[in-house]
Amino acid sequence: MTVGTAVAPGVRLVALPLPLALKVINAYLIEGPGEWALVDTGLHTPEAEQALRSTLAESGVELSNVSRAFVTHVHPDHIGMAGTLEAAGAEIVMHGPEADHARKLWAGDTALIDASSAWFLRHGMPEGVEEEMRAAWFAIGARVDPLGRIEQVEDGDRIDLAGRRLGVIWTPGHTDFHACLFDEEDGTLFAGDHVLPHITSNISLYPWSRDDPLGDFLDALRAIRALPVRRVLPAHGTPFDDANGRIDELLEHHGHRLEAVRELARGRERDAYAICRDLFPVLRNAHEERFALAETLAHLRYLERRGKVRAIDGAPARWAEAR
Ligand SMILES: [Zn+2]
Ligand SMILES: [Zn+2]
Repeated sequence: MTVGTAVAPGVRLVALPLPLALKVINAYLIEGPGEWALVDTGLHTPEAEQALRSTLAESGVELSNVSRAFVTHVHPDHIGMAGTLEAAGAEIVMHGPEADHARKLWAGDTALIDASSAWFLRHGMPEGVEEEMRAAWFAIGARVDPLGRIEQVEDGDRIDLAGRRLGVIWTPGHTDFHACLFDEEDGTLFAGDHVLPHITSNISLYPWSRDDPLGDFLDALRAIRALPVRRVLPAHGTPFDDANGRIDELLEHHGHRLEAVRELARGRERDAYAICRDLFPVLRNAHEERFALAETLAHLRYLERRGKVRAIDGAPARWAEAR
């Protein structure tokens, strides 16, 4: 898809490069009468900043013309350049509890990263992997601008982005307080990482997570399924129209994954890392190791809360199918 392509009435896709396996994040430029707004901001690398400026320039827009930017969630590829946009004059808007979490995660305090290191070690991650994971986490954190003022909005609010009225929909799962934006008039969904066309969103259980992120995610997919969505603008991959078809595939995918996890915990006690390595045989780096283990834990927690597996305390903690 060409840079700056119109993907919905009054909306252009701004493809921003990422130095990750996921090569691009889509920000969306909303054009109003003499006003512009963005949804998501990109990871702050020199290449991404250049791409943001030049793509906007193609539409005759400068960074300082962007009046508001909505950040769907805390991840560095979404929030990374919020500070740059704010410095250029934009108001940054986020779902309130997600903004609070962003301040804890990216404030230079390592408390959350320390807590996750201990958590992953307890679930069987080898120490060498844990060290690499920390280093990768800090490296990507360095690509997130210091956070300034954030306008906090709530689930169900209607916000104005460049003259367009958009509903804020809390869609937990990928992160605890991820939010999509929905235009009821034309059925456009700014989906963030909640509904992606080619990959499945990472669903993670961290020590600070809500109790059952996968349960949250499946419920939040069903909630979107109930809306009259006609166009999905995802943060990764190509915009598409058939929201319900994709949601059905995602629900089915997790149904299969849950069955596979239950199978791997059958007849023996195993730590989550061992289950994870059977589930994800190929992991190319520490980021992937972290996402894979946290995703396995989210599936185990879902099964645990429904009485299908049980957790056994210890070092490492273990899991077994419940009889
Ligand atoms: Zn994300
Ligand atoms: Zn993302």
